[in-house]
Amino acid sequence: MPSYISKCAGPPPLVFFSSASIVPSFLPFRFSCNTLCCWCHSFRPSLPSVSTSPTPPPLSKCAAPPPLSDSSSAADHVVQRHHRRSTLSLHSAMSIFGGMIARKFSSATTRSLHVCVVGSGPAGFYTAEKMLKAHKGAEVDIIDRLPTPFGLVRSGVAPDHPETKIVINQFSRVAHNERCSFFGNVTLGSSISLSELRQIYHVVVLAYGAESDRVLGIPGEELKGVHSAREFVWWYNGHPDFSNLTPDLKSTDTAIVLGQGNVALDVARILLRSPKELSTTDIANHALTALSESSIRKVYLVGRRGPVQAACTAKELREILAIKDLYVNIKEADLVKTSSDEEEMKNNRIRKRVFELLSKASTSRSPSQSSGQRELHFTFFRKPDKFLESYDKSGYVDGVHFEKTTLKENDSGNQIAIGTGEYEDIKCGLVLKSIGYKSIPIDGLPFDQSKGVVPNIKGRVISSSNGGENEDGLYVCGWLKRGPTGIIATNLYDAEETVASISEDIEKKEVTSQKAGREGLVHLLENKKIKFVTFGDWEKIDFEEKKVGSLKGKPREKLATWNDLLEVTTK
Ligand SMILES: Cc1cc2nc3c(=O)[nH]c(=O)nc-3n(C[C@H](O)[C@H](O)[C@H](O)COP(=O)(O)OP(=O)(O)OC[C@H]3O[C@@H](n4cnc5c(N)ncnc54)[C@H](O)[C@@H]3O)c2cc1C
Repeated sequence: MPSYISKCAGPPPLVFFSSASIVPSFLPFRFSCNTLCCWCHSFRPSLPSVSTSPTPPPLSKCAAPPPLSDSSSAADHVVQRHHRRSTLSLHSAMSIFGGMIARKFSSATTRSLHVCVVGSGPAGFYTAEKMLKAHKGAEVDIIDRLPTPFGLVRSGVAPDHPETKIVINQFSRVAHNERCSFFGNVTLGSSISLSELRQIYHVVVLAYGAESDRVLGIPGEELKGVHSAREFVWWYNGHPDFSNLTPDLKSTDTAIVLGQGNVALDVARILLRSPKELSTTDIANHALTALSESSIRKVYLVGRRGPVQAACTAKELREILAIKDLYVNIKEADLVKTSSDEEEMKNNRIRKRVFELLSKASTSRSPSQSSGQRELHFTFFRKPDKFLESYDKSGYVDGVHFEKTTLKENDSGNQIAIGTGEYEDIKCGLVLKSIGYKSIPIDGLPFDQSKGVVPNIKGRVISSSNGGENEDGLYVCGWLKRGPTGIIATNLYDAEETVASISEDIEKKEVTSQKAGREGLVHLLENKKIKFVTFGDWEKIDFEEKKVGSLKGKPREKLATWNDLLEVTTK
């Protein structure tokens, strides 16, 4: 009688049922199949493994079946993978052990749990990881509108922060789990609708981030040369939607960055750092070329409130202040603290540290006489009133008209900026608005327009039409759930909360309905003639980027257009 193995240090020992011999035989025993044998994960059964042989054969003798033919389409591959798994592991097992195994399947509530995660950023991958761990039989499909996974880890995190991107390794391990599949180039809202997804999957988790911007709503915002920080970041990170942004860095020596959070510091640092230093990062080639030719020497980082309220963290601030030969300008008068400021700093260690760093920086360096020295001006107590149009170049920005502000405590005890009626202009040829990202609603999804998030309780989407009830099987995670704040790791805790809600709901209400899951998705996409990108396809992109990058001393040279990205997947 086979014994069920409930626990082991790594993934469970792998058992391959040979229907011909009727005797279960071992595929290679492995702790990390994904790295040792790319085939095994296609055949690892999802049901509890059955062991009859005490010693697994050595790895080198992997009895993996022949690889899928190169000419197979992505759809074939995913369906074959799925079919082979179900026919080889499920059918064989059922024919061997008949009713016993069959009963095991039908009574295992999570065995046929089909889960779709929309968005392959940190929130999506952490959710997938936690679902796979919590529900041993669940199949998790991650869809993303891009052919590349990892969301803002690839297209947001600054190129000179390689250590932050290491988390990609962890996410790749999740994608290699045999119960997980990646479908890139699939957009919720156009390739597939939310109602279609909900018909196919028991659980749909929306983790598609925040891909739009808050707007200031002031005159001149549409002028050329005014960009959101998101667009600029996507441009230098090689996001295929913005590789043709072509910000004009040559007609001006001054850029204004509106906002003083970490994203604002990122874009200011990229403008101010020497292109030579950036040339060994994974910055997009077009951005490196433009930055090498840039005439921008002066960057203003402008905030509505004072240095105590600057929204950045000490690490990011220290980094920009450490740029070589940079003149940092902070007005002494702005550093005068009020008693409310003192109180704020007492209650917030980060604010205190940031203020200390700014105070130190204000006195540490004087401008050098050398021409072309780069300058960073921290400008506090200013709110943009309108963007100024150039007299010479119609339709182009030439500066920002600011109103000076002062701080006033509101009813909840926060210090807010209010205008003083005094104004000041700062001339510039480039403006980057770093005032916040915003999520985009999609058809059929409850959406809180004012907060820019999907209304939810602990990740359960709350219906807008159904008297505030939970939307059955619909969950949310990450920036779409809580707004565009927090670091990568914040999404881990967020995913834990959402997955806990899913698990509670499954516990309460056993999943009995049949859903088509992955196979249904593949058929739907095929019918719609949507060429989706598998994780294997992404690995071709990854390989190509690293190969080209290594020739230039870069970790990778990003493929930055849709054409280039999709072309590599067909090789
Ligand atoms: C410029 C910038 C720099 C940052 N730097 C750091 C840093 O150095 N360290 C740090 O810890 N954190 C950093 N963060 C924060 C971190 O990136 C976020 O916390 C995190 O990425 C949010 O995760 P998410 O999964 O909710 O969204 P995202 O990472 O945005 O992922 C969303 C995914 O959904 C996909 N998607 C969007 N719409 C659709 C659709 N309709 N259909 C299918 N897929 C869709 C997108 O392509 C994307 O892959 C930074 C953020 C920004 C903006």
